[in-house]
Amino acid sequence: MRNRNKPWADDFLKENNHILAEEPFSNKGNWQQSFSKKQPLHLEIGAGKGQFIAGMAEKFPEVNFLGIERVKTVMVGAVKKVKTAEVENVVLVNEDAKDLRDMFGTDEIDHIYLNFSDPWPKKKHHKRRLTHETFLEQYRDVLKSDGRITLKTDNRSLFEYSLSSFSKFGMTLEDVTLDLHELEDESNVMTEYEQKFSAKGQPIYRCEVINRI
Ligand code: SAM
Repeated sequence: MRNRNKPWADDFLKENNHILAEEPFSNKGNWQQSFSKKQPLHLEIGAGKGQFIAGMAEKFPEVNFLGIERVKTVMVGAVKKVKTAEVENVVLVNEDAKDLRDMFGTDEIDHIYLNFSDPWPKKKHHKRRLTHETFLEQYRDVLKSDGRITLKTDNRSLFEYSLSSFSKFGMTLEDVTLDLHELEDESNVMTEYEQKFSAKGQPIYRCEVINRI
């Protein structure tokens, strides 16, 4: 994702701080207080420009959505999408998701989405993949037992790596599909990357994992 220099990004995010968690680490264990209703909490890591989280929030008003995106200039796009959707069940966090246990209490999250995560193709960078064991350890702790992880990607190598990583870690693979759009699943909300890759005819891989060891 491109990171153009946008000096107005800080001002824009400040003006829209009702959509953003400005001190996310102080919300640990109390995220429900950031929403108008107490309801299941779903987290997207690497929310990009927000098409997925805004679409999910519209489709599932009975869920609270949190989106983490580490690139500020990309987060601006997500804030715009959430504003346009006029939804109240989304909070965005401009942070790196590397220390989730400092941001979330044990069992605080019901569902994690990893959408088109950076593939980090070089072997020496695999530890940066969001499905590396060090991340799975964090997901295991912050997710409720029987909570879910949904991963979507166009990248076969990342997908195979992730299946193996979930499986080695002992999490339960509930569902695996090698061509998501063939299923015509009406509950699927497309991300920006998903739209781009599927328009080129690339298959989209998806797996559903349960936090049950
Ligand atoms: N999920 C979006 C989609 O499917 O269209 C964006 C996909 S883009 C390839 C990956 C995004 O994840 C980028 O915006 C990147 O900045 C963000 N990202 C990657 N690692 C992250 C991390 N550790 N914490 C927060 N954001 C991260």
